Amino acid sequence: MTRNLKPRSRAVHSGTRRSQYGEVSEAIFLTQGFVYDTAEAAEARFLEAGPDEFIYARYGNPTVAMFEERIAALEGAEDAFATASGMAAVSGALTSMLKAGDHVVSARALFGSCLYVLEEVLTRFGVEVTFVDGTDLAAWEAAIRDDTAAVFFESISNPTLQVVDIAGVAALAHAKGAKVLVDNVFATPVWSDAVAQGADVVIYSATKHIDGQGRALGGVILGTQEFIRKTVEPYMKHTGGSMSPFTAWVMLKGLETLDLRVRAQTTNATTIAEALQGHAKLSRVIYPGHSSHAQSNLVQRQMGQGGTVLSIDLKAGKDAAFRFLNAIEVGVISNNLGDAKTIMTHPATTTHQRLPQDQKDALGITDGLVRISVGIEDPEDLVADILQALETA
Ligand SMILES: *Cc1c(COP(=O)(O)O)cnc(C)c1O
Repeated sequence: MTRNLKPRSRAVHSGTRRSQYGEVSEAIFLTQGFVYDTAEAAEARFLEAGPDEFIYARYGNPTVAMFEERIAALEGAEDAFATASGMAAVSGALTSMLKAGDHVVSARALFGSCLYVLEEVLTRFGVEVTFVDGTDLAAWEAAIRDDTAAVFFESISNPTLQVVDIAGVAALAHAKGAKVLVDNVFATPVWSDAVAQGADVVIYSATKHIDGQGRALGGVILGTQEFIRKTVEPYMKHTGGSMSPFTAWVMLKGLETLDLRVRAQTTNATTIAEALQGHAKLSRVIYPGHSSHAQSNLVQRQMGQGGTVLSIDLKAGKDAAFRFLNAIEVGVISNNLGDAKTIMTHPATTTHQRLPQDQKDALGITDGLVRISVGIEDPEDLVADILQALETA
């Protein structure tokens, strides 16, 4: 029924499984197991479980299945597997498909935990990983080999908001038979067209915009039915990174309002980026949706909008950045993003503290850089708050 609906309608209705009570709000099936009418029925279900048959919550659960079907319909992917966190999704997608001797090419500008999985974990099991500047198509072309099994990148990098050309990298990877895995957190399902642009696997930390209200950790791996059910599911259900039914319910309700929140946050981010252009205390205002962004044309082609996060660079460095953060009254200092509340982070001393200085330099993570995940508050309040805090800085 929901196949032909537009994304905003799918985000509200797709995947709903109503019980015999006809409940309006999706039920939380907070159960780890399921009973069988007979021993024969148990045997049959273990042999092959039908679409409405469940065995154990690590394998699947009706509330989790609702979330998986809804997010798959929204993203335009054939299937999805829900995970306990965004990192369970990143590590599960990679580990389920790779084996010793495989080669992976990855963008270097990655979320710290993603970098750990690629640099420390995969290599320990004999996977060779080559890192490239994700914005440089020639570097991808030079690094992708005949034996490359996969390429991995964040479509918008954290915290300097560089954009990777999904269609461009996918064309290079597919020419060599490599799978394209995209961590699409900053793009959000609302502004994403990653599957149509050539991504074979799309990964979200649902902790970010999908929950969007700071309550629960979660993640999801999206791809073809074949990849999700034959490669990802066996690995995830046996290694233990599945999503809990309660989390799935939180995320389902999050999907209902995702579009409203992300649109409002994007509009607010656009307003703030515009208001801060040329500010005397800032050396840079980085917002993918602003015409001053180095890859503005790519952003328009790939997403049409700049998303919910911007970064500003205070000329006077760390002390000024700290004075700015301490003077903020509407937003909060924290390290989550995609939340209804405006959240500010000083990457150099928190999320990216452990990176060696040369890598911080290479990624543009300066002492004055502040990442602003814009919330749904009144934009006039946000602009006034940021301007008064810049005065103090
Ligand atoms: C937060 C984040 C993750 C990890 O998600 P968790 O839900 O915190 O495990 C992965 N990639 C990106 C780009 C993120 O922002």
